[in-house]
Amino acid sequence: MARYRRMHPVELRHCSECPAQLEGRQRAVCSSTCRERRWRRLHPEAAAEKQRRKRARRRERRARGESILSALSAELVTALEELVDERVNDRFEGVAAASDSVSPWLSVVEATELLRCKRQRVDDLLSQGRLARYKDGSRTLVSRSELDKYLRTQRG
Ligand SMILES: [Zn+2]
Repeated sequence: MARYRRMHPVELRHCSECPAQLEGRQRAVCSSTCRERRWRRLHPEAAAEKQRRKRARRRERRARGESILSALSAELVTALEELVDERVNDRFEGVAAASDSVSPWLSVVEATELLRCKRQRVDDLLSQGRLARYKDGSRTLVSRSELDKYLRTQRG
């Protein structure tokens, strides 16, 4: 074989589908992607048929999904929609809090999150007057900057 190779040097061979050089035992194509491409080029009808089947399978899957939804009770679908709404809102609230357009006002729950404390702690701070209690109707709000200031005065 070695002698044969010396007498018949291997010429550089290229992939039939792209300019890549073939290596080792590769015969016509350089990769599985190019093998697929070559097959599509050489067998256009079979490729079209395969594509058609793929589309049909996708259509079938979609139809099955829709039939599952229509089999669910209306209440369950409503409940699912509400759940999804809730999740999306939560996600967007998180994004809003992280962005620059933060509200200067915190609800009591948000204040507990910021302080990493229980609700009782915020209630105590409010009733001791260490944090001012702002009201929007029946809702209690805390000023974010006052809370920041309070934390800074608590430095050890
Ligand atoms: Zn190739």
